[in-house]
Amino acid sequence: MRGYGGRILFVDAGTGATRVQPVREEQARALLGGNGFAARLLVDHAPAGVDPYDAENPVVFAVGPVTDTSVPGNSRACVAAKSPLTGLFFDSTFGGRFPATMKRTGFDAVVITGRAKEPVYLRVTEDGATLQPARDLWGRTTRDTVHAVQEVEGPSSDVMAIGPAGEKRVRFAALATYWKNREGVAGRGGIGAVLGAKNVKAVSVAGARKTELADAAALKALIEERREPMTTGTKALSTYGTPFLVKPINTLGAFGAYNLRQETFAEALAISGEEMHAHYHDRDTTCLKCPVACGKQYEIRDGELAGLKAKMPEYETIFAFGSMLGNAHAGSLTRANDLCDLLGLDTITMGVTLAFLAEALERGWVSADEVGVPFGWGDWRGMLRLIEQTAAREGFGDRLAEGSWRLAESLHPEATRSVYAVKRLELPAHSARALKGLSVGYATATRGGSHHDTRPTPQYAAGFDRRGTEGKPEFAVRSQHFTAVGDSLVICRFTSERGYGLYVEEPYARMVRAITGWDVTVEELERVGERVINLERSFNVREGVRRAADVLPWRVMHEPIPDGPSAGMYCPPPELAAMLDRYYSIRGWDGDGVPTQERLAALGL
Ligand code: SF4
Repeated sequence: MRGYGGRILFVDAGTGATRVQPVREEQARALLGGNGFAARLLVDHAPAGVDPYDAENPVVFAVGPVTDTSVPGNSRACVAAKSPLTGLFFDSTFGGRFPATMKRTGFDAVVITGRAKEPVYLRVTEDGATLQPARDLWGRTTRDTVHAVQEVEGPSSDVMAIGPAGEKRVRFAALATYWKNREGVAGRGGIGAVLGAKNVKAVSVAGARKTELADAAALKALIEERREPMTTGTKALSTYGTPFLVKPINTLGAFGAYNLRQETFAEALAISGEEMHAHYHDRDTTCLKCPVACGKQYEIRDGELAGLKAKMPEYETIFAFGSMLGNAHAGSLTRANDLCDLLGLDTITMGVTLAFLAEALERGWVSADEVGVPFGWGDWRGMLRLIEQTAAREGFGDRLAEGSWRLAESLHPEATRSVYAVKRLELPAHSARALKGLSVGYATATRGGSHHDTRPTPQYAAGFDRRGTEGKPEFAVRSQHFTAVGDSLVICRFTSERGYGLYVEEPYARMVRAITGWDVTVEELERVGERVINLERSFNVREGVRRAADVLPWRVMHEPIPDGPSAGMYCPPPELAAMLDRYYSIRGWDGDGVPTQERLAALGL
């Protein structure tokens, strides 16, 4: 099979036992790889109702046919598990160099189950996997761990590690890899805590297998053809990174602030990409062989945090620690981001949970004494301290480590009304009220509050009607297929959306044909996306998800945006219900959101 290693590696972290399973061609063609493989493996190997921290909850690392080819943004992989935050299927993708190196091991997926008695790291090579002692690494940051393991494994190895937060089972613990100043973080859903519960501190990969292409000339021609639109489309990303989004989205009145009481932030300019670039830009960083280089290294040159050199905060992070907290101290955003990466925390959940806490303090649902650290709107010093406490589960951090939904439930009967989360996953910085495609998109997303299930990008385009509900269920379905296919190939969203199209279209079919030699069509790829979504939904249905879980945050359904260019927008329950009816009907799911046997059978599931 071209484009694949053709093998899946199963590892028991408890015993060290491994086994290798070949990938059948029809399985590869039906699911592509990455997200698709992970969904199939979790449906098959995670027992129904398994506790996310149980040894039997598998962690799956998976690459796809695009990984380690010459397609821009190809060094991308997916890590998946049942999430300790949502209790549902979860996958998170990441870049750097690790994904390409993993592909060179000749394993398309590595499935880790079991629980080691002592801390270990997993060494994966072309020959299989072994467990290596990691007691000395326990307690160390993600970066220290990556560098320490690389010292042993050699410079051509790549390492993905958890930080102290994963060891302490913070429900939104992340994993990180480092390569030449480029950090790749699989942030969302708490998969770092699942690895921590297995006593697996890190995974190292090394190999030299090449990805064979069916038609290298056809792939080269496609990349050449798409070079110009990709370069033009990624110009702002190349210059500023994702923070370039702050200004336009704030101008649209869709930039959540003060725990979503507002959707414009008066001080947005101070934390915009342009402003931070002017003050802090040190150098560009990039994933392996990607010409976009959307990563930026910042250097804070003044104030209390002077001397700090760290990765820039992404747009979502600026929202979570900035506008949502009423915090316009730009340097503190870089520090908060750096802390989260080093300690292994998801920045979106961390920041949005703190925004909920700021409101809870104001409403008297929790006292300043209980929190124990001076904190409130705009208090960035308190924010930094609480991030550290969360990773260590120290003091009030132990409660923040549960995420905003569980914290709210523990505080007050009405407190969940102030939580900005869907299926217990905190929402990112693309408005559930000001973009109707995301209203239905978030409600139906496998992961809940994720902007990588239904995409915001097409909705910001001129000519897209973001205000009306007409056609939005259809849009969400198409967009979800697009993200499922992209995360199965696996390809970076930025290079794919801007270079190859916002939906599953002909350039993707050409890409898959050139890599694999299969005569795939756009229609066949669209069905792959649908198959992956239905597998994920089946996993979630098995865990109890029905229509009642497909809801939006209370504030999104009951409080219109108070002012600004999107004033008056929200998604009241009857409007959401009508969109859900339409969405289920397009999907061939019953009225309770359960895939019908007919639809599953038609998809070969
Ligand atoms: S666009 Fe950015 S995130 Fe995507 S592959 Fe390139 S450098 Fe990495």
